Amino acid sequence: MSNRTLTILGCTGSIGTNTLDVVRQNPDRFRVYALVAGRNIQLLAEQIQEFKPQVAVVEAAEDVDRLRALLPASHIPELLSGAAARVQVSIAPEIDTVMSSIVGVAGLDATYQAVCHKKRIGLANKEVLVSGGQLVMDAVRRHGTELIPVDSEHNGAHQCLRAGLRTEARKLILTASGGPFRTTPREALDHVTPADALKHPTWKMGDRITIDSATLMNKGFEVIEAHWLFDFPPEAIEVVVHPQSSVHAMVEYEDGTVIAQISATDMRMPIQYALTWPDRAPAPVPRIDWTQARHWEFHAPDFDKFRLLGLAYESLQRGGASSCILNAADEIAVAAFLGGRLRFPAIARVVEETLNQMPFRQPASVAEILEIDGEARRKAQSVIDANAVAFGPLNTAALATPAGLGDK
Ligand code: NDP
Repeated sequence: MSNRTLTILGCTGSIGTNTLDVVRQNPDRFRVYALVAGRNIQLLAEQIQEFKPQVAVVEAAEDVDRLRALLPASHIPELLSGAAARVQVSIAPEIDTVMSSIVGVAGLDATYQAVCHKKRIGLANKEVLVSGGQLVMDAVRRHGTELIPVDSEHNGAHQCLRAGLRTEARKLILTASGGPFRTTPREALDHVTPADALKHPTWKMGDRITIDSATLMNKGFEVIEAHWLFDFPPEAIEVVVHPQSSVHAMVEYEDGTVIAQISATDMRMPIQYALTWPDRAPAPVPRIDWTQARHWEFHAPDFDKFRLLGLAYESLQRGGASSCILNAADEIAVAAFLGGRLRFPAIARVVEETLNQMPFRQPASVAEILEIDGEARRKAQSVIDANAVAFGPLNTAALATPAGLGDK
């Protein structure tokens, strides 16, 4: 098995810290060249002392001196900040692998440039394919880059597809936990709080993706990512609710055989797979104990209750920058929900209205994607502002139907 030298984009996040744990467990296999964080300087300082990277990158220039002050003089790596530095450490000749786990479009350019420099990519960051699917996959094909998905469903699909020829695979099935509101009646969703929505039943993740799991937007993003990663048309990608989150994905082959991928509900499993593929290293977490009785359920998703899942399929059909707009609007709506300015069901209404109001565009560069992303955010914010009373926290005024927006 070959050794790998890594740049970790988003080292202080949920995926980043799990990646570092995999590195910690395999000191002979993996070496960290660069750690890239946002604003969590305290954690980054601890990581620098443990993993001793050559370079560390923070988001804001003013944090560089704060970070330096937290480090012992014996090991101060090169300290950089900003978007250009993120790209620099993602294409550095010293590395062969980039873990792409920044949240949001801030990770897009560095990941795209790493693809163009043929680095192995462990891909967690959703926006890379949701916002830039066509552009990124064209570059993957042009450069012959190894892009290995880290998201458990796509990672599962990647493993299922090793069982047969791609031309024999007929359908891809992604499982969804169903989130904390799987059994909540639709009418009750008006009253759920951010704290309720942040209680994911099976996975511990960052805030944005946890809310996106509660709305099933995250599953919609996964449908979009699966389309780009594995070249399945939207109608050949099915979502199945599986509350236990043990089966991550299934592939149905031409003869009706279904291959399922099952593993512990722990992100260190797909992270390690992405780093070691095509080899397998010893399990990073306890193995499944098959002597314990278990019960697995599978249900169809409720497209009426979880409108954002349907909107994801629609955005793929619309094409162009639609899924970039979908993502940007969702991020703004989720932030407004978390900030107590939006009711839970209004997240979908903001996203749908933003999609309807934005013109069709086909982005041809990262710069254009970022431009459309910015426009969509501004549009989503204006939709929220224009419907503040109707979409805001429930009170008597909020029960009125907003002008121009019918009930779904
Ligand atoms: P977190 O919110 O836990 O972490 C996000 C990371 O991105 C942090 O390290 C943060 O830095 C960093 N970051 C944010 N903005 C910037 C910026 N402008 N410049 C540099 N770094 C930045 O998210 P997750 O780890 O949960 O998720 C990361 C990505 O992976 C997301 O796209 C998510 O959808 C995807 N994903 C996550 C899964 C999970 O299990 N968590 C599963 C599948 C996909 P800091 O904290 O220092 O500010």
